[in-house]
Amino acid sequence: MAIQLPKGIKRTPQRLAILRYLEGNRDHPSAEEIYRDIKRDFPTMSFATVYNTLEALRAHGQVIQLSIDPKRRRYDPDTTMHHHLICRRCSRIVDIHIDFDISLPEEFNKGYSLIGSHIEFYGICPECKEDRDEDNKV
Ligand SMILES: [Zn+2]
Ligand SMILES: [Zn+2]
Repeated sequence: MAIQLPKGIKRTPQRLAILRYLEGNRDHPSAEEIYRDIKRDFPTMSFATVYNTLEALRAHGQVIQLSIDPKRRRYDPDTTMHHHLICRRCSRIVDIHIDFDISLPEEFNKGYSLIGSHIEFYGICPECKEDRDEDNKV
């Protein structure tokens, strides 16, 4: 499903470029990355435009904001329930689309209607591991 600008937000070429950038994007980009890439085509665009557009999309459930990266907030246009694995060295984030059976123990579940879950996995990706191995060979 295509990402839509919330009603009341003007469809400017810059904002449409942000939507195009996010559509199907699996890199979980940060606002800074989106700004840097789109600025090439729209040199006058401000960072606030990117940030405010992302914020509006997030408020309307069009993108998810991830806090898994300790360095910066990242955005995910895939709003279906999934988990994330981040490389602690290069900050690459990978989607994990497996339905784990995570049932909350009764004692924590009292009075709640659960609507979802999100697990954050941390590790070192194969590429980063290889780099490190190379270093060690010296
Ligand atoms: Zn890595
Ligand atoms: Zn994701």
